[in-house]
Parts: sequence; structure tokens; C-alpha cells
Amino acid sequence: MKRILVTGGAGFIGSHLCKRLLHEGNEVISLDNYFTGQKRNIVSLMDDPYFEVVRHDVTSPYFVEVDQIFNLACPASPIHYQYNPIKTVKTSVMGAINMLGLAKRVRAKVLQASTSEVYGDPQVHPQTEDYWGHVNPVGLRSCYDEGKRVSETLFMNYHHQNNVKIKIIRIFNTYGPNMHPHDGRVVSNFIMQALRGKDITIYGDGRQTRSFQYVDDLVEGMIKMMATGDEFIGPVNIGNPIEFTILELAEKIIGMIGSKSKLIYHPLPSDDPMQRNPDISLAKEKLNWEPKIPLEKGLKKTIQYFENLIREDKNI
Ligand code: NAD
Ligand code: UDP
Repeated sequence: MKRILVTGGAGFIGSHLCKRLLHEGNEVISLDNYFTGQKRNIVSLMDDPYFEVVRHDVTSPYFVEVDQIFNLACPASPIHYQYNPIKTVKTSVMGAINMLGLAKRVRAKVLQASTSEVYGDPQVHPQTEDYWGHVNPVGLRSCYDEGKRVSETLFMNYHHQNNVKIKIIRIFNTYGPNMHPHDGRVVSNFIMQALRGKDITIYGDGRQTRSFQYVDDLVEGMIKMMATGDEFIGPVNIGNPIEFTILELAEKIIGMIGSKSKLIYHPLPSDDPMQRNPDISLAKEKLNWEPKIPLEKGLKKTIQYFENLIREDKNI
């Protein structure tokens, strides 16, 4: 049994990770300030005596004896991370410093949830880990993109300077149950709109692409990465390499729900990447990992989740 700290544990991905780590017989501490996370995501875990819930902000130091840290605390949806961009930078940078400091003191292994956004609007396609990216340092997305880039830098520096055991994964667009219904990300937006027969909001012409990974595949990749030996630190891409246009995603969701929703077009937000697709050769080689859940199967589970939410609370 290991004692494991998950920052952002009440968020979409963090809640799935906590559940899986408990299931594997570990003691798990969820640390969250509930900015974008919800108690609802972890309430079913609270009866487990090996699960602890801490309300805390990663921008302040936190002291605890743990074996491993998964550092996920950070708003991930563009609407949420742009709401208070200074706080987003602080969360990424000070959060990384605090978690690395903790890992250094207690000799814990620490994994950083980085992002495909470090590649910006990429000019190399698909994206390999050795691509340095194409990020606007002063744009609307920079608080998130540059914050995550600095946190990768800090992880590397603590590793080389202080021998901290680190792991860096770059997560590509992930979806599934426990996403916030109003977090503004494309999968949750389209499903909520289609379930309610509202217009589906396509930003731009809808020909921009993304590659969607179901959350269970990601959690498997995270666990495998944490279990690798000290010689492999990443960064490693964790995502599904099957690429769709946003229009294709909208049509798929409308078809699966049998919705009468119509498509409406809004301007493309600034710096919105035109394409995104992970090269996962490194994850295959080092982690023996690749995603297994096809989009339709994952969407089915996600649609069921949102249907239940609406059934429980019609005003949601
Ligand atoms: P989420 O918003 O659902 O979860 C983030 C969690 O962090 C929330 O529970 C939030 O309350 C918490 N949090 C935010 N700021 C905090 C702070 N200062 N102190 C303590 N807790 C704080 O998002 P998610 O999709 O679950 O993303 C989790 C992590 O994975 C993030 O670091 C994100 O950047 C990364 N990621 C996610 C995706 C994706 O597609 N979902 C893609 C790339 C990277
Ligand atoms: N998008 C859209 N309609 C929406 C929400 C998002 O067309 O209601 C587009 C968005 O412009 C982007 C893509 O879907 O091109 C993915 O957006 P998301 O916010 O999910 O994540 P991103 O990959 O941009 O961080």
C-alpha cells in the first residue's frame, strides 16, 4: 500500500484517478480548492477509510508524508483558465514549486499533468515530444500554455539539481463522465446542447481537428508512467491518435443522441489551435500503452452520465 497525494483530486481526471488508486489498494489524499472541481465527483469515494479529502490551494505549501504525488491541480477548460489568468499562472508555477519542494523533502515520486497545449498551434503534425511548439506568449491561452511550460521546466530543474524523481506526461484532449456540464469544453458543450435540443455551437468553420481520448485510457497511462523506473522521466504524450474535425464530432454526437439540434457558427477564439494529434510511439515503447476505447464507446458512457445529471437536476 502506497500513500498517494492527488492534487486536483475533485476534478474530472483527478476523481477517476483517485478511484483507480483506491481500487488498487492505496491510501489516497485528494487535495483541491474546488475552483473547477466538484465534491459530487468524489462523494462516492468518501466512505472508503483509506480516502482523505483536503481543501487546500496548491499555491500555498502543503506538508504531508507521501510516497507519490500526481500534480493535476489547474483549471483545464479555456473558459475557466482564462477567467483569472494570473491565478492560472500561479497555480501552475507555484503549485509545481510547492509539490516539487514536498517531493524533495519526503523523497516522493512526482508526476506532472502537462498538456498538448505546450505545442501551441503546432506546425509539426502529429506532435512528437521533441517538437518545441508554437506558442503565443502574450495571447489569451498563454496563462495556461506558458504556465504548463514553466512547470515542465521546474520539474526538469528539480530533477537535475536536486535529484527529485519526476515524471512528465503531456495529456491530449480527454473526455468522459465527471466533466463539468458547463465547463465550456467541446465534448461536454455538444452533448449538453444535443440532449436539450439546443443549437450546437461550432467555433470557426469546424474544420479544426482534435484527437479525443477516453478518461480510462488516460488513467491507465498515468499509472503506467508512475510505475516506470527512475531512468524514464518523459515528457511523454498520452492521447488518442485518431483525429476528428470538430464538425465530425458534432455530427457524431447529434447522431448518437438522435437530437434535432442545428449547427450554428461562432467566431473562432484567438489562438485556437487548427490541428492536434499525438504521436504516441514513445508511450507505446516505454509504457507498453495505447488507448483502447473507441470514440463511440466513450461517448456513449459520457452521454449516459450527462443524461443522468439532467434527470437528477433539470435546472443544471
Ligand atoms: P478540472 O478543471 O476538472 O480539474 C482540475 C482540478 O484542479 C479541479 O478540481 C480544480 O478545483 C483544481 N484546482 C484548480 N486550481 C487549483 C488550485 N490552485 N489549488 C488546488 N486545486 C486547484 O480539469 P481536468 O480536465 O480534470 O484536468 C486535470 C489536469 O489535467 C489539469 O492539470 C489539466 O491541465 C491537465 N490536462 C487535462 C486535459 C483534458 O483534456 N482534460 C488535457 C491536458 C491536460
Ligand atoms: N469548440 C467548439 N464549440 C464549443 C466548444 C469548443 O467548436 O462549444 C472548439 C474549440 O474552438 C476548439 C475545439 O472545439 O477548436 C476544442 O475545444 P476545447 O475547449 O474542448 O479544448 P482545446 O483543445 O481548445 O483546449
